Amino acid sequence: MSDGRTAGVAIIGAGQVGIAVAYYLATRHGVRDLVLIDTRDPMSLTSAQSGENYRNWWPHPVMTAFTDDSIALMEEIAAATANRIAMTRRGYALVTRDPDPAPLLAGLHHGYGAGAAGRIRVHDASGKSYVPPVSAAWDAAPDGVDVLTDPALIRRTFPTWAPDVRTVLHIRRAGSLSGQQLGQFMLEAIRSAGGRLQRAEVTAIDSTAPFTLTLATPQGRTTMRAERLVNAAGPFLADIAAMLGETLPVACVFQQKIAFEDRTHAIPRDMPFTIDLDGQALPWSDEEREILAGDETTRALLAPMPGGIHCRPEGATWIKLGWACNTQPADPRAPDPLNSHFPDIVLRAASRLHPALTGYIGRLPRAARHYGGYYTMTPENWPLIGPMSTPGAYVAGALSGYGTMAACMAGALTGAWIAGGALPSYAHALSPARAGDHALMAELAAATSRGVL
Ligand SMILES: Cc1cc2nc3c(=O)[nH]c(=O)nc-3n(C[C@H](O)[C@H](O)[C@H](O)COP(=O)(O)OP(=O)(O)OC[C@H]3O[C@@H](n4cnc5c(N)ncnc54)[C@H](O)[C@@H]3O)c2cc1C
Repeated sequence: MSDGRTAGVAIIGAGQVGIAVAYYLATRHGVRDLVLIDTRDPMSLTSAQSGENYRNWWPHPVMTAFTDDSIALMEEIAAATANRIAMTRRGYALVTRDPDPAPLLAGLHHGYGAGAAGRIRVHDASGKSYVPPVSAAWDAAPDGVDVLTDPALIRRTFPTWAPDVRTVLHIRRAGSLSGQQLGQFMLEAIRSAGGRLQRAEVTAIDSTAPFTLTLATPQGRTTMRAERLVNAAGPFLADIAAMLGETLPVACVFQQKIAFEDRTHAIPRDMPFTIDLDGQALPWSDEEREILAGDETTRALLAPMPGGIHCRPEGATWIKLGWACNTQPADPRAPDPLNSHFPDIVLRAASRLHPALTGYIGRLPRAARHYGGYYTMTPENWPLIGPMSTPGAYVAGALSGYGTMAACMAGALTGAWIAGGALPSYAHALSPARAGDHALMAELAAATSRGVL
């Protein structure tokens, strides 16, 4: 047993990912002597900002397999807890005004073609429904993709959308969950298995195992010795790596959302998480254009913007809107760079697909929330899960905009690396060691999509 100053495994970061690492170490590998160290309340940094959506759509089969495995683990927990984690399965709808689904399907086939025949079904304007030639056989797989190109079918299925939508990809194995409930469920299991939480900031690490961690606590400075270490520090992944004398290839990119009560019932409660893929120039009035053009900080809002506007119903009466359109890294130690124009921008952009949202432009309910957090990302947008260069140190992070959905498998995988369990075929590709796989890195660098939705 631990005396509070030592631990078998010290996990730095009690966000969704660190908690999942502790959960799988405790429940699968019987590791009792573990401590989760965090400066803040568990689940209160990036993990509190998540849109809480999940999907198994990815442009690369490695990420498809990784998220498929994570979804299976979430389904296991949902089944064992009478769905305490509030998993829904309404799918993702990817929407475009392009009548030709080929470019989207080309992206999908990479992940869905090989070894996954029959997972794509097209519903076209002639009323025909068929499997496109790339897939061998339609097997009614529950985790495939429906491609809607029949305007009447689209209109019937999604009557509140603007009528110019021509193609919809409906990803079936997708939906939402409560990441907070998932975190709470795991914390309870960790505590009953003997694991503990320590409120402290890790400020230095003596980098030979057993590690000596310097901790700043509300009571003052102290140290802890740990046989093994997991870096699950979210946006501060690189800082912890630096304490070990290592560099991790990550950047932090701030992304924003708004949430508000849908008093006018603009969005049907059963609408799937919907992403408008098309870029657009935002609809400003002449007067607004003049004002925006006159200010250097707002002029860019007149230029064409990228696609990727998110919308989904939240709970009984709320709506969440998001747009991961920022690409500029920022320092997560600085105050959150919330853009005061964002609520207006995302509402206008979302109104193109959901015309009923226009009524909220300039009239958001007072209780509306505007918030955001960091996507901690590698250049290829794949996570870093596995051994670091320092013997005894592991990393579980860089889960970008998919850490809620992928936390379970990130935790299970880290647990297997540490405890010597069976590793899935993609374990090496998701570990920091992939940097030495030049063929893989060249393939990822040349990819047209990194799977950021
Ligand atoms: C706007 C937004 C929307 C998103 N939507 C989705 C979504 O729909 N679906 C999805 O799957 N994912 C989504 N994500 C991504 C997901 O939220 C993250 O990938 C996930 O929460 C990351 O979890 P984490 O545990 O790695 O990081 P965090 O939750 O940030 O946890 C890291 C913890 O480490 C602690 N820490 C750091 N340094 C130290 C230190 N030196 N000492 C002690 N403690 C330390 C921090 O205090 C923090 O609590 C979204 C993210 C954002 C920002």
